[in-house]
Parts: sequence; C-alpha cells; structure tokens
Amino acid sequence: MTTLLVTHPVCLEHDPGPHHPECPERLKVVLAALETEEFNFLMREEAPHATQEQLARVHPMSHIEHILSSVPQEGHRTIDGDTFLSPNSGEAALRAAGAICLAIDDVMAKRARNAFCAIRPPGHHAKLHQAMGFCMFNNVVVGAYHARVAHGLKRIAVVDWDVHHGNGSQHLMEDDPDFFYASTHQSPLYPGTGWADETGVAGNVVNVPLPPGTDGQGFRAAFANRILPALEAFQPELILISAGFDAHKADPIANLKLEAEDFGWATREILAVAGRVCDHRVVSTLEGGYDLAALMACTTHHVRALLGS
Ligand SMILES: [Zn+2]
Repeated sequence: MTTLLVTHPVCLEHDPGPHHPECPERLKVVLAALETEEFNFLMREEAPHATQEQLARVHPMSHIEHILSSVPQEGHRTIDGDTFLSPNSGEAALRAAGAICLAIDDVMAKRARNAFCAIRPPGHHAKLHQAMGFCMFNNVVVGAYHARVAHGLKRIAVVDWDVHHGNGSQHLMEDDPDFFYASTHQSPLYPGTGWADETGVAGNVVNVPLPPGTDGQGFRAAFANRILPALEAFQPELILISAGFDAHKADPIANLKLEAEDFGWATREILAVAGRVCDHRVVSTLEGGYDLAALMACTTHHVRALLGS
C-alpha cells in the first residue's frame, strides 16, 4: 500500500484576488513538489464534491446555502474580513471538503496506507455557521464526521500544526469526548484562541501555544511532551492532520522559526502513534503556508514521511 494524493484542478481556480496570501500559486507549488521522481509511487485521485449530507453533519444548511449563494458570477465578493469568493470558489470549497472524505474511504478500505489532500480553500477556522480566515467549510471536521457515519468509527483525533490556532475545529469538536483536537500554534496571533487552559469537555483538547520566535527544537519539545502522549492516550481509531506550513521560518504572516525538516519529523512521530493505536490510519489535509518556496519544501518533507521514506 502507498500514500494517496487527492486534489482537483478547480482548487487552483478559487481566487481571493490580487495580493491575497491564500493564492492559487500555493497549490501550484504543492503539486509541483509532488511531481518529482521520488513521488512516482503516489496513488492519485481527483477530489469529488462533498455531498450536502456530508457538509450538513457539521454546518447548518443556512451556512452551506449562504456560502454557495454568495459565489459571484464574476469578480470577487467578501464573506468575512479576509475571506473572498470568486466564481469557482464554491466548487473548490465543495471539493476541498470532498477530498478528505474520499481519502478516508480509501484508507479505511486499505486501498491506501495514508493520504494527503492537496486542496484549497483551507478549513480549520470555519465555524459552525461562519466562514473565517480564508476558510469556508471545516474540511477536517467534515472528514471526522464522515469517518463516523460511513465507517462506524467513534474516536477521531485531529492534530493541527498550522501556525494559527484552529478555532473552528476546536469549537466543533471540544464538547464531544470522542473527538480529540490538539494544536501547536503561535501565541499571540490570529485568531487569538487556543490557550493552554482550553481543554475541552473531557481533556480532549490540547493546546500548546508557542511564543513568537520558537524554533524547531521548541516545536519538537511541545510535540513530544504534550501532543503525542495525549494523542496516544486518547487511543484514536483514525488520526487527521491539519497540515499548515506557516510555522516555517520564512512565512510572511507569522513568526515561528521551523524548518521544513521539522514537519517531516512531526509526520513520522504521528505515523508512529498511528502504527501503535489505529492500524497506521492517517489522513492529512493542507491548511495554511504562505511562503511559496517554504511551502514546496515542507510538502516534500511531509509527503516523503507519509510514504515512509
Ligand atoms: Zn495558518
């Protein structure tokens, strides 16, 4: 079994407008990184639309309809201070959420050992009924519910190493003791949540805020001492990764100092836990990451680790 890559060309056509950091070029460089020879053995599939039923397990119909009906015929339309829609944004958002559902299906059926969803828009800031921070639907939580309903799993973990706290994901998971959400993120930084004393309904939320300037050593210590032991103790049946790469030292919108190798290390550590507790089942999905060269290097290290090389 190999690693599955799920993407769709329409995810390149969600255009938030000029000078927006969440630009189509991000996905271009992610896909370019995975075109090199070492990734020839990736299994590749096109992301389907998430169904209305899949989305409605997480978001009220009013939110789904609001997003899709706000998509402009031409030009751009804003639905949040920094979240913009272009004519293909609705389609891209549906396929971004659909990618993780397909990836979970393939990992559960053992067609793939693990998976990476190269998609945009990202999802981890999307709240119950609110688009936020470049996110429309909460892709990773749509995946968590899909794993439950379509595959009968109960205990699902999300590990989020994006430099921003995934406030939407935490909000959607924290009251359910069979969901686990763990995040390392810069603090203070947008969106201002993710304090260490936010621990969920049953200790099922683990936040490790990192001060600006934290390097790979500090990140690895947070992971090894806080995130990984809690993740293993939770005994998940599936681990989802919110893989943002904006904690890289070159990122223009944050101030952590990670290197691309740190994301490869974190990936291998999560895979090791997955090997012990959930038959290696890991599905990763792209969140942030705004320096194009860094994003390319981080993708290489992350997917190389998923492939086990
Ligand atoms: Zn981010």
